[in-house]
Amino acid sequence: MAKTYAIAIDGPAGAGKSTIAKRLAKELGFQYVDTGAIYRTVAYFLDLLGISPKDVDGVERYIDELNVEIRYDEDGAQHMIMNGMDVSKDIRTQDISQKASLVSAHAVVREALLDMQRNVAKNYNVIMDGRDIGTVVLPKADVKIFLTASAEVRAKRRTDELIAKGQTAVFETVLKEIEQRDYQDTHRPIAPLKMAKDSVKLDTSELDIDGVVAAMRKIIAEKIEL
Ligand code: C5P
Repeated sequence: MAKTYAIAIDGPAGAGKSTIAKRLAKELGFQYVDTGAIYRTVAYFLDLLGISPKDVDGVERYIDELNVEIRYDEDGAQHMIMNGMDVSKDIRTQDISQKASLVSAHAVVREALLDMQRNVAKNYNVIMDGRDIGTVVLPKADVKIFLTASAEVRAKRRTDELIAKGQTAVFETVLKEIEQRDYQDTHRPIAPLKMAKDSVKLDTSELDIDGVVAAMRKIIAEKIEL
């Protein structure tokens, strides 16, 4: 089998991972994998069943009832399929963001999703973004980048993004939610958000999208012949 390349991008919510990774994937001809969307799909599924994301027994009991699939359309856009239903749009609310963060702390959930993520990387050149890609999912990734930015900058970006989508968003509330999610994601015992030892850190607070893409291309070009 031909060698496939993997670029792992980790970092906190709102650091620009998905926007940047999507663009880079297009430019490099790689498959973009948004792993946060998978956790969001689990959270959405449990929410529909009325299971609290903190309910250990409930999560364990119902996780097997869920079949999550990732599909890509002709434009390369990722779609999340929950038991046959496309829920890609439904999972993008602030409520589901919080619930995904809580649901993703359960060992049973992380284990259930691990192979699925690794299998995509076996078959394609991937740019995969998440929280534990460089540390747990793809520890041998060819390139590891940790994208970050101040909580204020991230909250401002997320607020603008939500408003652009027609949702209501207040900066102070979004900031509080981001800080809470940062805390949960970095303090959970299993696969917490942290920088892999061999990861390159890139702070995007002062950079626009073109600036981040250029910086990332430089980091990638040092490891992979593009
Ligand atoms: O990236 P996104 O904001 O969509 O992720 C939603 C939540 O899913 C995160 O707050 C995090 O708790 C969880 N997640 C994770 N591991 C990943 C990707 C996301 O735990 N690889």
